[in-house]
Amino acid sequence: MEPMLIVALTVVAAAILWAAVQYALFYRRDHFVCPKCGHCWKPPLARMIFSVNAVNGKILRCPRCGSKEYVEPVRDRKKDVS
Ligand SMILES: [Zn+2]
Repeated sequence: MEPMLIVALTVVAAAILWAAVQYALFYRRDHFVCPKCGHCWKPPLARMIFSVNAVNGKILRCPRCGSKEYVEPVRDRKKDVS
């Protein structure tokens, strides 16, 4: 294989691995909170991957009130997650 191709594939593989780790960490310890109604939830993985990223958070539709909001990950606390 071409050396440049190997480098490119390594970078892509590292990026995918990094993203996988970030998602795994999110599901393990974080959730989103709707700023409108205060609902706490963890979106499905497909929604996480294809949603719009903004700064540290995402643009997501709240499953309870249906409002499309900018949400940032919040650390899980026992009383927050249903
Ligand atoms: Zn809501």
